[in-house]
Amino acid sequence: MIDNLPPLREVIRAHDLRAKKSFGQNFLLDLNLTARIARAAGDLSGADVLEIGPGPGGLTRGLLASGARKVLAIEKDARCMGALAEIAKAYPGRLQVIGGDALQIDPLAHLTPPIKVVANLPYNVGTELLIRWMTPAQWPPYWQSLTLMFQREVAERIVARPGSKAYGRLALMVQWRAEARIVLTLPPEAFTPAPKVSSAVVHITALDEPRYPADARMLERVVAAAFNQRRKMLRAALKGLHPQIEALLQEAGIAPTARAEEIALEQFCALARALTTAPLAQG
Ligand code: SAM
Repeated sequence: MIDNLPPLREVIRAHDLRAKKSFGQNFLLDLNLTARIARAAGDLSGADVLEIGPGPGGLTRGLLASGARKVLAIEKDARCMGALAEIAKAYPGRLQVIGGDALQIDPLAHLTPPIKVVANLPYNVGTELLIRWMTPAQWPPYWQSLTLMFQREVAERIVARPGSKAYGRLALMVQWRAEARIVLTLPPEAFTPAPKVSSAVVHITALDEPRYPADARMLERVVAAAFNQRRKMLRAALKGLHPQIEALLQEAGIAPTARAEEIALEQFCALARALTTAPLAQG
């Protein structure tokens, strides 16, 4: 028992919250599990937590029971508001719920640092939200850490290392200025209804500065071009970026015959720097 509120199955029955595919709904009904996910976010006391997609509120309850100073929950499905209001009543002044689309709402006005993001993300918007959190106008970002549930395959792409199939844009974008690790994997049966695939929680901590200097947009351009044609040699995959791409690859310590999958973050950053300073680089 993490609180005195009714079990989630009862909440779902009372509010008729049958999961809808269109909202990407797969609910966690085991409060011990949601409390575990909340703990994976580290010490929440003294922090404001942003939760996307609280649904019937299992994770929300885990976060509040773990001592979060405040939880701001953004939920698109209006059917969930009644259940969430009951949680707000049990934790006076600590849960604020905003009804609407997380992709359209700027949560910052409602949050006070330090801020942590914790969410069991709807599959249809999970990657989009992660990319937005990882590419803010300013670094360090407003959040200290992101503790996020993804399909396992997406989680593996986030933490992937060079030389693996999962290695690509997502790994490089996240690992350039954050530390990412998988802290928990869950079988489909942990959810109601059970999805087709396993899930995993990734814990991402923002670094104060990028690991290696590079212009964010140039790095993104290089990495996108390299992995868009990941089976090609880099001198071919990147030839659209600069007429002297072979020389620039060599300057960055990269064999022009290498493929994107083999190249470490440090080398991609060196190539982005070489392209930024090379004449015609902005082409
Ligand atoms: N957090 C709950 C749990 O762990 O049981 C529900 C997780 S469920 C995978 C995803 C939740 O996100 C659903 O409640 C869904 O209605 C909500 N959702 C889907 N798209 C959304 C969006 N664009 N903005 C906010 N919430 C969204």
